[in-house]
Amino acid sequence: MYKPDMITVEEALERILSTVHVLEPEAKPILDCLGQVLDEDIVAGFDIPPHDNSAMDGFAVLSGDTSTAGIKDPIYLDVIGEVAAGYTSSLTITRGKAVRIMTGAPLPAGADAVVQFENTDETERKRDNKPLDKIGIFEPAAQGLNVRLKGEDIHAGQVVLKKGCTLYPADIGVLASLGLAQATVIRRPVISVLSTGDELCPAGQPPGPGQIYDSNTYTIAANIAMCGGIAMITGIGRDTLASLQEKIRQGLDADMLITSGGVSKGDYDMVKDVLAEMGTISFWTVRMKPGKPIAFGTLKAGGGRDIPHLGLPGNPVSSMTTFERFARPAILKMLGKTDFTRPTVLAAIDRDIANDDGRRVYARVHVSRTADGWQASLTGPQGSGILTSMSAANGLAIVPEDCPLARAGDKVNVQLLDNAEGII
Ligand code: AMP
Ligand code: MG
Repeated sequence: MYKPDMITVEEALERILSTVHVLEPEAKPILDCLGQVLDEDIVAGFDIPPHDNSAMDGFAVLSGDTSTAGIKDPIYLDVIGEVAAGYTSSLTITRGKAVRIMTGAPLPAGADAVVQFENTDETERKRDNKPLDKIGIFEPAAQGLNVRLKGEDIHAGQVVLKKGCTLYPADIGVLASLGLAQATVIRRPVISVLSTGDELCPAGQPPGPGQIYDSNTYTIAANIAMCGGIAMITGIGRDTLASLQEKIRQGLDADMLITSGGVSKGDYDMVKDVLAEMGTISFWTVRMKPGKPIAFGTLKAGGGRDIPHLGLPGNPVSSMTTFERFARPAILKMLGKTDFTRPTVLAAIDRDIANDDGRRVYARVHVSRTADGWQASLTGPQGSGILTSMSAANGLAIVPEDCPLARAGDKVNVQLLDNAEGII
């Protein structure tokens, strides 16, 4: 008898997350760590910048020498040399002296300010073929002008990046600026993806009579990549015991298996038997729409290892909304992330959304910001097979379980999706 547990979205997520664990760390080249969670504190071994240096191309001076400088009445200093970035200089600046200096070059001893070229007569001197062993200063330079101080960015001993943070491009740059070629991050989960159904034909092949193309493999694998996982596609399982068993076996060398299809009433008995034989399995009716039936359990993966198995419904939109609700947080948890939320906006809907059986409705919408606030337009028919309305959506408008009808003009929470980037 088909009697799955009836549970809320939160209960389902809680059960799934309690079975899924953070993966082990791995050390690898810093650029490969992008988007992953750091598994060590990064402590600076030295100051950055390592020495006081110039923030401008100009002349290193003693600020006190320039206090009366003016455009009509420049101060003239003796230029005793030049220092470029990447070189050090043994020159010392004393009263009346200056050193020509490039951005990033270490400040010569004695100097306490840099006057940029634009505030000197260098251009005129060059134009008029005047000697460059003197320079006219047009403006007083305050102490510290255009000087970047040793350690002003990072000081030795400072924890620059904390264990648990996600590495974005600037963080990769910070690692590089500390001279680190490798970092230790939580490894990416490998998720095997299996679509089930006799009706499915792989893309690129001619479909047989009555067949449709398999799209779930692709939406699921693409979403795994969006979350930071590595999809391992095992292909299409037929609706037979032998085929399902064989395909599941092929997918066991992974951190998790995501299947689609075969969890609704019609397929339940066979799938249940296969999965129960290979591990443990529960079938749930989750109070969400689209996406009611899902399966969750563990599979014996050999060597005493169990891997989680998430069985998503076959309908293309249901599999995507259940992926969003359950697979995405599971993958993020494995990656060591702790925040699974998405940005949400309160938006006025442009049409009624009916909620006739007390489930939480996730309606596909396109949100935009207008002079009147956030507006959400339904992207088309909301049938769980209408994938194009998901493709046109950048958010999911949420109508709660206890709200039988959200009326046009009502404000509802809209959870933004990956393609909503940049609209906030
Ligand atoms: P099921 O959950 O197996 O009963 O499938 C429900 C509906 O989703 C059926 O109309 C299937 O043809 C469709 N479906 C199942 N798997 C896929 C898939 N991988 N790609 C596209 N449609 C699918
Ligand atoms: Mg099926």
